[in-house]
Amino acid sequence: MKKILAYTVPVLLCLAIGAIGSYIQTPAIRVWYPTLVKSPLTPPAIVFPIAWTILYIMIGLSIGRLIAIGDMSIVRLWIFQLLVNFLWIIAFFALRSPILGLITILILDVLVFAYTIYAFSSDHIAGWLFVPYMLWLIFATYLTGYIYLNNTSTATLSAANRVDKVIATESKTTYLDMPTLPYSTDAFEPTLSQESFDYHYGKHLKGYVDNLNRLIVGTPYEGMRLEDVVQQADGALFNNAAQVLNHELFFENITPYMVDIPPRLRSAIIRDFGSIEQFKKEFSSAATSLFGSGWVWLVEDREGKLSILTTTNANTPITQGLNPILVLDVWEHAYYIDYRNRRADFVKQWWDIVDWPRANSRLKQ
Ligand code: MN
Repeated sequence: MKKILAYTVPVLLCLAIGAIGSYIQTPAIRVWYPTLVKSPLTPPAIVFPIAWTILYIMIGLSIGRLIAIGDMSIVRLWIFQLLVNFLWIIAFFALRSPILGLITILILDVLVFAYTIYAFSSDHIAGWLFVPYMLWLIFATYLTGYIYLNNTSTATLSAANRVDKVIATESKTTYLDMPTLPYSTDAFEPTLSQESFDYHYGKHLKGYVDNLNRLIVGTPYEGMRLEDVVQQADGALFNNAAQVLNHELFFENITPYMVDIPPRLRSAIIRDFGSIEQFKKEFSSAATSLFGSGWVWLVEDREGKLSILTTTNANTPITQGLNPILVLDVWEHAYYIDYRNRRADFVKQWWDIVDWPRANSRLKQ
């Protein structure tokens, strides 16, 4: 009986920590995902919970084995690493602080390395059971460091957390939740005010999301990915689905931090437009001359060539088989609070808040 408990308690504890961890991680990963992984390399979402479950069972069994053979001195070290593991999840995914995340995961690396060495010296099987977790941790350290170095736009975001909480209280039976913003909505003053987010994100986009959730009920589109709904639907359903997708791209593509254009995107723009200045001039001119409501895009075709495209109303380059890299919303509701009727001023200021690394991460070729 004691032996069974020695295995089951650590395994259940590990699984509980793993479940809480992935619950906290999911919304953050959704925001960070485009910068982290190229879509062709991404395994289906179901792989992660399965892999983590196996990992956590293995580390639970490892400690269970040491407890079962009576090596109790290891327990303190193991509980300590579990706590630091949890701290890392909190710092990196809940508080969304890359620097705190990096510090905690480096401490965790040391503890896990120490544990593994100790486990090997006490019992070989306990050591081997811990090795996959150590390998996973090395990979997670690389990801944390990568985000710390390359992904400043996703740093600590208080208002984004607030939005998460609102989403968490919404019914899970709806087709689509409001997208999470990877920044605080008061971080863009004076370029974009908090009030403009309250309206543009909180009312206009919310309206499209609500309409979509209402219209999609009972249609064949209900279980589809948003991109597929946009490709296949028409009428009001297309309009609302496409507006949601376009707004997700628009809101993802701005950042309160000053960021440079990464070399890959920079050279692609120079290759296809001559210079960054020329590209901005042509894009701004397309934005100011677009009649009525619509969107201005930097798109990539199948050969990797970049071009500027304008679409009216809800229309989107995705239905033309083009890959959107960057988008600017020039519907009047995007700027009426801060710029009244002065679209050109809005376009001019928007360049200062473009999230170039995010745009860079969308290049496929
Ligand atoms: Mn809009």
